Amino acid sequence: MWFEADLLPGYAWSFPLPDGRANVGFGILRGGPVPWVPQAESGTSSWTGGDPLRLGRPSLPEDRRMAWPIPAKVDRAVLDHGPVLFVGDAAAATDALTGEGIGQALLTGILAGEAALAGSSPADVAEIYRRSVRRELVADHRMSTALQAILARPTGARAAVRLAGATPWTRRNFARWMFEDYPRALLATPHRWSRGLMSAPGAYATR
Ligand SMILES: Cc1cc2nc3c(=O)[nH]c(=O)nc-3n(C[C@H](O)[C@H](O)[C@H](O)COP(=O)(O)OP(=O)(O)OC[C@H]3O[C@@H](n4cnc5c(N)ncnc54)[C@H](O)[C@@H]3O)c2cc1C
Repeated sequence: MWFEADLLPGYAWSFPLPDGRANVGFGILRGGPVPWVPQAESGTSSWTGGDPLRLGRPSLPEDRRMAWPIPAKVDRAVLDHGPVLFVGDAAAATDALTGEGIGQALLTGILAGEAALAGSSPADVAEIYRRSVRRELVADHRMSTALQAILARPTGARAAVRLAGATPWTRRNFARWMFEDYPRALLATPHRWSRGLMSAPGAYATR
């Protein structure tokens, strides 16, 4: 993972694949210094295309580059319409800091199912669903938005990476927190504290 000055508060990733291949991508904010749609669609992105050193040599794209908007505004999203409940990306439930949304899609799906079972009318179901999405996701969204402002500056990003890498414990727990093994706003929401939370096995190991 990289934090490059021109991508902040976004980041780039390279996930290794078999046969010397890699899944490479970057997440950026709309309206930031890196143009997003026109160059990514035309395959002339200055970020990856202009500087092969950033990807390592020799690296050749095996397909066209693609760009996709990631909605991250669950605090303002419309969550229902009549008897329909919106979940996942349709509820803009992705994490504003990392752009991750698989966990949120599963969680909002579960909350929608629970609301459907608990409510006595479409309006009641929608109210229960809105309340539970607020309870589960809005504090984390606000925390991500606040941290985004810190990571948007190179000094903030450098300090965060330095702090995260200070000890093996901070390295392990930063990674787990960053990728949401722990709720983003855990420290600010005591109702979610429980014994052993920080030492439980990761999501990969449960069930
Ligand atoms: C480049 C990129 C990288 C990402 N990396 C990560 C990551 O590492 N970790 C992570 O947690 N999240 C990641 N995300 C975000 C994550 O992919 C989404 O938040 C998540 O997939 C949302 O799930 P969803 O079920 O709401 O929507 P989707 O996964 O988009 O599912 C919606 C489905 O509905 C289908 N569909 C659309 N219209 C119709 C129609 N009219 N009829 C029938 N079917 C239809 C679509 O084809 C699609 O299969 C990434 C997103 C992008 C763009």
